[in-house]
Amino acid sequence: MPQLTRLRGFQDQIGPSAEALSYVESAFRSIVELHGFREIRIPILERVELYQRSSGETSDIVEKQMYVFADRDEAETIVALRPEGTPGVVRAYIEAGLDRSDPEQRLYYSGPMFRRERPQKGRYRQFYQFGIEVFGRADAACDAEVILIIDELRRKLGLEFRFEINSIGDGNCRPQFREAVYNFGKAHYDQLCADCKNRLERNPIRLLDCKTDVALMADAPKSADYLCDPCKKHFGQVKDLLKAGGVEYVENPRLVRGLDYYTRTTFEYVGTGLESAQNALGGGGRYDGLVAALGGPDTPAVGLALGIERILLALEAEGATPASPAPLDAFVVDFAGGEAARDLTAAIRRAGFRVDRSFDGRSPKAQFKAADRSGARLAIVIGPDERAAGTVGVKDLHEGGDQETIPVEKIVDDLHRRLG
Ligand code: AMP
Repeated sequence: MPQLTRLRGFQDQIGPSAEALSYVESAFRSIVELHGFREIRIPILERVELYQRSSGETSDIVEKQMYVFADRDEAETIVALRPEGTPGVVRAYIEAGLDRSDPEQRLYYSGPMFRRERPQKGRYRQFYQFGIEVFGRADAACDAEVILIIDELRRKLGLEFRFEINSIGDGNCRPQFREAVYNFGKAHYDQLCADCKNRLERNPIRLLDCKTDVALMADAPKSADYLCDPCKKHFGQVKDLLKAGGVEYVENPRLVRGLDYYTRTTFEYVGTGLESAQNALGGGGRYDGLVAALGGPDTPAVGLALGIERILLALEAEGATPASPAPLDAFVVDFAGGEAARDLTAAIRRAGFRVDRSFDGRSPKAQFKAADRSGARLAIVIGPDERAAGTVGVKDLHEGGDQETIPVEKIVDDLHRRLG
């Protein structure tokens, strides 16, 4: 039979690579939980309209990256694998009636996302993201808090990145900015790339983050120069709070979002040691118009998402790859015939130590080999003599030295003493 292989852009995460993903995820969880965020788990499959309405018909995600198919129900509902977390979280927030019962919500999620991109290093078709969303708060302190959370994660992981921030204004001041960019694009029409010529009428603000016309856009209008007073004040407060929190930032006027529901603060995390094709670690900002765009009431919101594989690549580039979790604490080497070893192993596990044993009556030599291979710190030896005497042998496999004999009822104390 021919062997079946995984699909392109999809990865198996076995042992250390899966543990590395979990390591980043649990660092993130422990920090957001300290800030009082609650977990949300949302479906991986949703109606395609959800993403069309929230990411926008002209976004790369909706235009070319979604896995879309017709369900086999009567209505042949068109569904999509989620390419990002925010739309589902917002839908769930509205659908659960939280906008009415308890509009202020602080939620976090973590899980796989799917985008049909051209696979390469750091760019996969299934990848992992975690993110947070805060609903019902319009104040600058809230923008600053979500940014500070990622700063705490940076410190916890020893991660290095450049944090870039901008403000794109709101429904009041953005039309003027949009018009200024449009006029700039018109005046330089001949120099625009084909994509930007296309975008100019539909979505001129996106000219600013064009990857091709970088030099030209250096002279383009800057959103910060067009902010109305309330937006200027908000942006100033966010920056003051970041300074007070010791967060280093770089203002990047090219950091914009093309969709109207994004307001005010936008930011991005750029991995400093990574190639530009995969140096985006994540980003976020305010989206005060999204809840309404998906059918809820006007509700301010701010959020962010980061890619876990990218964080791991950044750590690897710094030489700060997370250590695999410590191996087993102990391995029971049994040549007494089963029951005593079984009970001893169970008692050690109940005391909270990680312990394994060999089951198939192999020779002591083979069992010691298995103990070494398992990476366990200690071998706990139980043979007919030990069983008769009510003792066990303990040997430190990492440090070497002689095997010690101790009364069996002292084993848990001995493990505490040795393993701390
Ligand atoms: P985005 O929603 O496009 O801003 O993505 C947020 C983050 O998810 C990015 O900054 C990356 O860290 C990560 N990400 C996005 N697409 C991929 C992908 N195809 N493979 C791996 N990570 C990705």
